[in-house]
Amino acid sequence: MDRQWSVRDQHRADVLALLHRGRKLTRGEISEALRLTRTTVSDILGSLLDQGIITVTEQRSPGGRGRPAEVLGIHPGAVRFVGLDFSHTAATVCLANSAGTVIASAIAEYPTGAGWEARVAQTQRTIRDLAVGEVHLEFLAGIGIGLPGPNSASWHGFPRSATPMEPFQLVKARIRELFADEFGCPVLVDHHIRFAALYEATIAGEADRNIVYLRLSTGVGGAVLGAGAALRGAHLLAGEIGHLITDDTPEARACRCGRRGCLETVASKDAVLDTWQEITGMEDDQVGLDDLAAALEGGDPRALELATGLAGTVGRALGIAALIIDPDEIVLAGEVGTLLEPVLPTLREAMARQCLTGAEVQVRSGETADKQGARGAIAALRAADLPPARARSARAGTLTYPAEGGPRVR
Ligand SMILES: [Zn+2]
Repeated sequence: MDRQWSVRDQHRADVLALLHRGRKLTRGEISEALRLTRTTVSDILGSLLDQGIITVTEQRSPGGRGRPAEVLGIHPGAVRFVGLDFSHTAATVCLANSAGTVIASAIAEYPTGAGWEARVAQTQRTIRDLAVGEVHLEFLAGIGIGLPGPNSASWHGFPRSATPMEPFQLVKARIRELFADEFGCPVLVDHHIRFAALYEATIAGEADRNIVYLRLSTGVGGAVLGAGAALRGAHLLAGEIGHLITDDTPEARACRCGRRGCLETVASKDAVLDTWQEITGMEDDQVGLDDLAAALEGGDPRALELATGLAGTVGRALGIAALIIDPDEIVLAGEVGTLLEPVLPTLREAMARQCLTGAEVQVRSGETADKQGARGAIAALRAADLPPARARSARAGTLTYPAEGGPRVR
């Protein structure tokens, strides 16, 4: 099945590596840079042009006599990185070219309660469906897959264990294997919240930031970046702020992690809506975050009391995280995070009481972009500075982080 990696394959990989990240060069410049003959380079470039992997971006005038030279670059439709973000209900799929620009994206929805087999199959179909016309997958350098936390779904054939780590590790390994087999490229798997946090760090434009990231959405996910790298921990559970126990009363709600009273049982979208429903007595299908936001804006004292209480709880949790991490900033994301904007002063106050840096720590709202997990996966793939794609012969499929931790943002 696997063919030999030939000298020509190597030359082809070298050419692609040279044009990687949006560089545009003439045939002459490419042959000079790689110290290859014009004939060899022309031959390789010809086949890359035929396959739509590279394209002529402009004609450059030699500035005197002679013919204008064609300037070549990566075809903008050639997909280099695939970023995926699996949530509990759907996967976000982003296809990016070598410059990191997202050129196609879609949401692969799966039925509630769908197992991983179905989720993976649906997502793989969506990736293939996106690769039409000029968009193609012949030049893939890596797939970054963001997954939700443990206990998020079952996989037929995998026994559920009492510990939250074990089954998830197996599921994770299997997902990596399935994507590597299907697309024949390295696959990077991590918690999707870590990818979202990396994306935040990327848009801030500064490397080496220390960030506490909290997303209040369908679930409550946290991540911590130490000097621009996502901390993963001994059991890949670093930064799980959503499972900080904030309710110790006998009425504390059960959490997906098997315990009671975690921040997630209080501050997730459903938890907040349940509480709002209890307060207002509204019917199940009438309740939405929009209603609560409108009530809050309209000065409804019940909404204000709910939001203020929530801000106090979230603020305390963030303050504890800030005490341990000493971050440059705290990023609050997700629909519920947005909802809390009017009560941010309360949140900041509660946070400042817990940490030594007090009000000095910046708390800001995260990007509401729903693709941030997938875009963060792409940022992580780019940061890992992958070697050039090794045709279809390399099926290793495993991409490792640098030894000291997660991928760095540059
Ligand atoms: Zn929990």
